[in-house]
Amino acid sequence: EEFIAVVPAAGVGSRMAADRPKQYLHIAGKTILEHTVDRLLSLTEITRVVIAISADDPYFPQLGLANDPRITVVDGGAERADSVFAGLAAIDNDNAWVLVHDAARPCVRQTDLRALITAAISSDCGAILAAPVRDTMKRGRHHSAPQISHTVDRDNLWHALTPQMFRVGLLRQSLTSALAQGATITDEASALEFCGYTPLLVTGRSDNLKVTQPEDLALAEFYLQLLLK
Ligand code: C5P
Repeated sequence: EEFIAVVPAAGVGSRMAADRPKQYLHIAGKTILEHTVDRLLSLTEITRVVIAISADDPYFPQLGLANDPRITVVDGGAERADSVFAGLAAIDNDNAWVLVHDAARPCVRQTDLRALITAAISSDCGAILAAPVRDTMKRGRHHSAPQISHTVDRDNLWHALTPQMFRVGLLRQSLTSALAQGATITDEASALEFCGYTPLLVTGRSDNLKVTQPEDLALAEFYLQLLLK
């Protein structure tokens, strides 16, 4: 089997309100994107990483990643799903497994990557890392002055994490139909769900956080220092 990672890294990171996209902020000695790619390539099973970046990205060419023969760079798109789709276009083996992993999740552990791979290769249509919801979940109403509409039952409710792992051909086909029909796609599994597939949920660690807000940086750095020890 062939295992390839696709890393969407073409977002602008507006919620971070930093001087550059969040994947290029430095924590624990290097950029978040470098940590993320190192984590993926630390698994011998993963032989190649395709990274989708903005067409006018001035930061990526300055990284050592730009000269790594295991890495392919493609132009990303307007939405995350478009960036992933562009990444898949660089892979010609439809039968390969793809692990789509957010550039902004540098703390993913090898044990979780291995658990995901093990689950996905014996599944019908793929699998994702996910974490059970801990807090009581509320559905709000009115975005301007939000108030509680009702409580959402959190039994069997999960946070979708990444990586999300599928056969290249199935993911490409699912993204194509979902995007063509205007479905809202915020992760890869949503595209498969839209097409009637039911990927597996593999319990992952909740410290595999997506660096999003300024306060996430210190936490990610702390987790990285622990796992790099
Ligand atoms: O914005 P969000 O945190 O959901 O982004 C998740 C990942 O998708 C990030 O790594 C971001 O760089 C990437 N992304 C992308 N292309 C976009 C939007 C987001 O590659 N157009």
